[in-house]
Amino acid sequence: MEITLSLVKPDGVRKNFIGDVMKRFEQNGLKIVGLKMLHLTKKQAEGFYAVHKERPFFHDLTAFMCSGPIVAMAIKGENAIKKVREIMGATDPGKADKGTIRRDFGNGIEENVVHGSDSKESAQFELPYFFDALSLNG
Ligand code: UDP
Ligand code: MG
Repeated sequence: MEITLSLVKPDGVRKNFIGDVMKRFEQNGLKIVGLKMLHLTKKQAEGFYAVHKERPFFHDLTAFMCSGPIVAMAIKGENAIKKVREIMGATDPGKADKGTIRRDFGNGIEENVVHGSDSKESAQFELPYFFDALSLNG
């Protein structure tokens, strides 16, 4: 069993895709074991995406991530990290497979509706950003 972190990004919340995103994860046998809506500050968004701080898109990405509320989900299941990434689809919705969240709901490479941890290491860094161990169920 793995636990991974997923976010409905501000574009997904603005466009009323919270339910659709959760439904895709649940329909694929994953369990939502932590759930929280919050509005990041710029500093918090920069901390969360620190891995990308040298990238040209860092400023725009972190501004976007604090442009409105997000929904954080802790998601549990067998191979949850890989499964969530598959259900999300590729970063660029135009290149994502049919039937993925980003392909179906994304607007472009930045406004792509969801985030998902990409490895055990990133899940370990990202989960405590939003959840403490005791607040996770199941
Ligand atoms: N992003 C962007 N421009 C790019 C690449 C990424 O705006 O050229 C944004 C996009 O929102 C993406 C996030 O930065 O989801 C993190 O990028 P990463 O390469 O980690 O993609 P992900 O893991 O989200 O698929
Ligand atoms: Mg990533």
